Amino acid sequence: MTTGSQNPSDPIHIVGAGLAGSEAAWQVATAGRRVVLHEMRPTRMTDAHRTEGLAELVCSNSFRSDDAQNNAVGLLHAEMRRLGSLIMRAADANQVPAGGALAVDRDGFSAAVTHALEGHPLITISREEVAGLPPADWGQVIIATGPLTAAPLADAIRGLTDETALAFFDAIAPIVHRDSIDMSVAWFQSRYDKAGPGGTGADYINCPLTREQYDAFVDALIAGEKTDFKEWEANTPYFDGCLPIEVMAERGRETLRHGPMKPVGLDDPRTGRWPHAVVQLRQDNALGTLWNMVGFQTKLKHAEQVRVFRMIPGLQNAEFARLGGLHRNTFLNSPKLLDGQLRLKAQPRLRFAGQMTGCEGYVESAGIGLLAGLFCAAQARGEVLAPPPATTALGALLGHITGGHIETIDAGPRSFQPMNINFGLFPPLTSPPTRKADGTRLRGNEKTVAKKQALSARALSDLELWIADTLPNSAAA
Ligand SMILES: Cc1cc2nc3c(=O)[nH]c(=O)nc-3n(C[C@H](O)[C@H](O)[C@H](O)COP(=O)(O)OP(=O)(O)OC[C@H]3O[C@@H](n4cnc5c(N)ncnc54)[C@H](O)[C@@H]3O)c2cc1C
Repeated sequence: MTTGSQNPSDPIHIVGAGLAGSEAAWQVATAGRRVVLHEMRPTRMTDAHRTEGLAELVCSNSFRSDDAQNNAVGLLHAEMRRLGSLIMRAADANQVPAGGALAVDRDGFSAAVTHALEGHPLITISREEVAGLPPADWGQVIIATGPLTAAPLADAIRGLTDETALAFFDAIAPIVHRDSIDMSVAWFQSRYDKAGPGGTGADYINCPLTREQYDAFVDALIAGEKTDFKEWEANTPYFDGCLPIEVMAERGRETLRHGPMKPVGLDDPRTGRWPHAVVQLRQDNALGTLWNMVGFQTKLKHAEQVRVFRMIPGLQNAEFARLGGLHRNTFLNSPKLLDGQLRLKAQPRLRFAGQMTGCEGYVESAGIGLLAGLFCAAQARGEVLAPPPATTALGALLGHITGGHIETIDAGPRSFQPMNINFGLFPPLTSPPTRKADGTRLRGNEKTVAKKQALSARALSDLELWIADTLPNSAAA
């Protein structure tokens, strides 16, 4: 499809040269368009960055699993490599031993990205803070300023979006894979069977606790090991006044039973009565594959969350698509504010990329930067690039950001939360594998492994079709 193109000599401005902005700049320049990449470091630093290098890794040096067959982030690596990603090229060239994970020498990695971008004839790097909305005469802009976006720009964006907050503490509740919940214990029901707007009366999954189970659970929450706030996080307010679940537990033994674990109006089909306490899970994505634990935002350490939350009847084998947390972040309510091409509906000349869009992680941020760069380059040619299929890791991630998430069904706080790539974001297989190559039945964990491998194979083959259809003249084709 074609639209009005911009003058080929007009540069595309990209704000923020982190994981997303660096990748976006590379993709735009590779497509033959000029780029001005604006980065405020070292003139102004963030509270976590320590260097002036582009694509600095602020914490761990791991890009997580590199197993494209069995792991969703490994699959994302493979798709990005296929599309000529600079971030993946620099990571591969600076690997350090880390078993099945792709870990990098952080300085070598950042230096490789910086060197490639500085040396590209179509890229100009401007070391300056963009301290408000980008000027109107900049034309197409990609904003990729990340979770620690400088305040003047964050304020200006908030002014455009009509949202009450942009930088705040995320109250993140864990998200569970639906197929790991034991439905012989848990059941579907809304409180008092109330249908509500868009509901059916059986919208929640409920996990019942007896008095003894509740007491043991409260004790475990209070005793569990917690993470500390970083010094610079201390002054950021809680969003929507959400308190960590363990803080509520410390306020009194009954607090949770009158709060998020309230059992009223929920009839356990096995007893016909309200249990002593209930944990509710609410559907999180349109596919119905992921469910979030309502009100369970927490600062417990990740290993502790797995241990303590598996004490909940029905969740004894729970697999978590993401664990809970509270940390400072800056991101848009993207399903509402962005279109399918990552443009701000209120001002489509502004496109967003990286963690600001509601993905999480180095690789995911770079992946969305890659897509923003491709979308932008196509628009500059007067074309509209069809997004990658939802069956690919890039398409699944884009779907989470721009449409796959369902808004809260009970008028609670906004429920869209940043997420790492995971297989729960992919459309289910139409016919999941049931047998091995030799014809014998798959059993237990073999089924899960075979399902992941089938999802990965489908993704890589659909990516090839998409490249052939939509990027026939690119380096990837
Ligand atoms: C403290 C912390 C630790 C994290 N640890 C991990 C981890 O271990 N593993 C993981 O996978 N993810 C981690 N993340 C999550 C996140 O995915 C990474 O932060 C990732 O770097 C995000 O990529 P990005 O490109 O969106 O933002 P960034 O990589 O942060 O890049 C944004 C860039 O924009 C610049 N900038 C900001 N405002 C302006 C402005 N107004 N004008 C010009 N430039 C500006 C910044 O200096 C920065 O270079 C962490 C996040 C934080 C905050």
